[in-house]
Amino acid sequence: MGHVDHGKSTLIDFIRKTNTTEKEAGGITQAIGAYEIEHDKNKITFIDTPGHEAFNNMREHGAKVADLAILVVAADDGVKPQTKEALNCILQAGIPYVVAINKIDKDTANVEKTKSDLAQNSVLLEGFGGTVSWQGVSATTGEGVGELLDLIILATDLEELTYEPDAETTGIVLTSHRDPKRGITAGVVIQNGTLKRGAYIATPTTKGKIKILEDFHGTTQTELTPSAPALVLGFETLPRVGETFTAGSDKKAVQAKTAPDKQEVKTQKESKIKHPIHLILKANESGSLEALRGIIEKLKKTEEGKMLNIVEAHVGNITEDNIQNAVSTESIILGFNTKIDQAATNLTQARKVKVIEADIIYKLEEDLKEYMEKRAKINAHVIEILAVFGERKGKEQIVGGKVVKGTIQNKSSFEIWADEKQIGTGTIKNLQSGREDAEAVEEGSEMGALVESSDPIAVGHKLVFMQ
Ligand code: GDP
Repeated sequence: MGHVDHGKSTLIDFIRKTNTTEKEAGGITQAIGAYEIEHDKNKITFIDTPGHEAFNNMREHGAKVADLAILVVAADDGVKPQTKEALNCILQAGIPYVVAINKIDKDTANVEKTKSDLAQNSVLLEGFGGTVSWQGVSATTGEGVGELLDLIILATDLEELTYEPDAETTGIVLTSHRDPKRGITAGVVIQNGTLKRGAYIATPTTKGKIKILEDFHGTTQTELTPSAPALVLGFETLPRVGETFTAGSDKKAVQAKTAPDKQEVKTQKESKIKHPIHLILKANESGSLEALRGIIEKLKKTEEGKMLNIVEAHVGNITEDNIQNAVSTESIILGFNTKIDQAATNLTQARKVKVIEADIIYKLEEDLKEYMEKRAKINAHVIEILAVFGERKGKEQIVGGKVVKGTIQNKSSFEIWADEKQIGTGTIKNLQSGREDAEAVEEGSEMGALVESSDPIAVGHKLVFMQ
């Protein structure tokens, strides 16, 4: 963890390249979000993505995703805002950490100044009046990286990390994707017990049965132990990044673990009737992502903003993967300072996913508010269908129902909703109340209408009007 451009990616790439074979360093690492190396016969799992969402969610979930953190500080730049943020996050989580002072190969590197910068932020390094272990490194030349790995082993030895192979299996979700070929895949890191193929698995928001278990090489395994990264196939719906999971052979016991969460799911379902707005947040870097998250948290405190719900938040451009996730979680995407490529744009159009993008945070907030207003209006006028009369002729149909919310105007357009999902659209051609033509029907009254619609309307459907 550390400030942007201080060399986190370069360092992690260097470690990966020098300690794993070409095959191992391939695509699977990205799918899992972590990789494993061997150093002096010790295995170390690195949580791969800098600014990883799991770290942000760590606080919310009260779980520790890592046993040890590496705080990266560039020797030519010293302590910067995100260094402090990272430090706060580490201290709040209460995990041990070591400091890597990076870019020592540069002419402008000033290790002594960096140390005193750190001291001013209460990080007292070994040999500098404190006990925090540190190592000077160059992520480009590799100088000091071996020693850094030694230091990591030493620090974790002191922590006496152990696990119980027979204990209930627990871990954390690092990534969650809908793969077009394989279905839902989740990258996890195991924290206790033994993760086995065929086991039942559950998180607070979803469950499933492990159909395929892969290690970070992409090799199928029947079981894996802590702290291995793993790819799990078999979740029924996308788990959320940063969630803890429980797994085991006893279906009831595993799913009971999610009992409080079932409630959470229920609340979601209940609130679904009020049409919550699920959000996938994307931003070009972690600082921007935090700013975006800040805006959402602020809006959530207002009456209109209560409906906002962050499903995922990631650093990076808007990808096809994000669009797929938006479809499966019925979310909209907010992009702050992001780009979207042609393939993702096409998919957005094909799957009708709403994307709001801006380079200025206030503009993004304005656009989101506008969208919220539109959605709020949707809530305001609803007919519940109680009867369908005669046969559907072409696109025309006669329906009867009750105005459960708002006022319905003749000739207005609507969306057809079934089971909280939109299934079609239509318009009222003729509106009636008490068998008489009417220009409008008020909330609480029964109504009948000749409608034209893209899809057949059935009893139990809701017709939702925009204005
Ligand atoms: P991150 O944002 O923390 O992940 O930083 P990056 O790994 O993307 O590095 C930012 C820039 O610093 C890149 O241009 C790297 O090539 C450069 N860089 C990273 N580590 C070193 C280093 O040890 N020495 C030098 N000279 N440059 C480095």
